[in-house]
Amino acid sequence: MRLGIVIPCFNEEEGIEELNRQLQTLLKEMVVAGEIEKESFICYVDDGSSDETWSVITACQAKSSVVKGLKLSRNFGHQNALIAGLMQCKDDADALISMDADLQDDITLVKAFVNKFKEGYEVVYGVREDRSRDNTLKRNSATLFYRFQHFMGIETVQNHADYRLLSKKALDALAEFKEINLFLRGIVPMLGFRSCNVYYTREKRFAGETKYPFKKMVLFALDGIASFSVRPLRIITVVGFFLFLLSLVGIAWVVIEKFVLGNAVQGWASTMVSIYFIGGIQVMSLGIIGEYVGRSFQESKGRPRYIIDKEI
Ligand code: UDP
Ligand code: MG
Repeated sequence: MRLGIVIPCFNEEEGIEELNRQLQTLLKEMVVAGEIEKESFICYVDDGSSDETWSVITACQAKSSVVKGLKLSRNFGHQNALIAGLMQCKDDADALISMDADLQDDITLVKAFVNKFKEGYEVVYGVREDRSRDNTLKRNSATLFYRFQHFMGIETVQNHADYRLLSKKALDALAEFKEINLFLRGIVPMLGFRSCNVYYTREKRFAGETKYPFKKMVLFALDGIASFSVRPLRIITVVGFFLFLLSLVGIAWVVIEKFVLGNAVQGWASTMVSIYFIGGIQVMSLGIIGEYVGRSFQESKGRPRYIIDKEI
């Protein structure tokens, strides 16, 4: 089989050389063992880095024909850089593996991925066995997010990031998903096909900082929910309906107090509380609806998910 490894890189100048050294050694071993063909390759996608990432990639490419490089015209974000690499490389390989540039993903898993592919799996997920090497914030927020996603009716593989193998067949199916608000972890399970998990322990970053600061993580999480589930909108409808029922009871009560019992209600506090409560719910609901309107707006324009500047 011809194997391709696709790696999105955003300001990863410190790590790529080491990653490349390890990957090339691994690929060479696998070629010698007859596990993969010698046309197998590694493709680095430079996602508009502002450091020397692209020169490092070109240097690696100059030294070895196994290396390909793709430079996007600006920073499009991890998911878009990944889809750029997958779509550009899918016709040159029987299967593609996507991984991060920071050596957090155990590269020896590549062999396991290939074995599973040969057993007939079209999709193989790399799943983290323990997250003890992540910081507490990331670990807890991730768990909470998986639970919330599940509650919202979205099926994802727990503790799986974007370290996976996709066969040519799966990639062709993926190409049919044209959405701009990409959340691959949600789309890949929707492809169907025969799939399985392989397990590994995630290491610390080899070099550099995380490229997912808190703000990007929150936006990514929003995409992971609002791009797949309309349940938040439904919850708003249900909450609205119950509030409406509640207010009918309230109105009846006020009318009885005023005209039947003759007690004028002095309730300033209760008035204020209900104004804040209803106000809060309304603004929140508008926000949630806005998330969906915003997404339809972006999708309706059908802009490209990535633009390629250079290809080597
Ligand atoms: N990345 C990217 N574009 C971005 C942000 C990140 O291509 O806008 C890449 C990054 O270089 C890395 C991968 O996506 O190879 C995952 O990012 P990172 O390792 O920083 O995320 P974490 O592991 O901290 O979740
Ligand atoms: Mg990482």
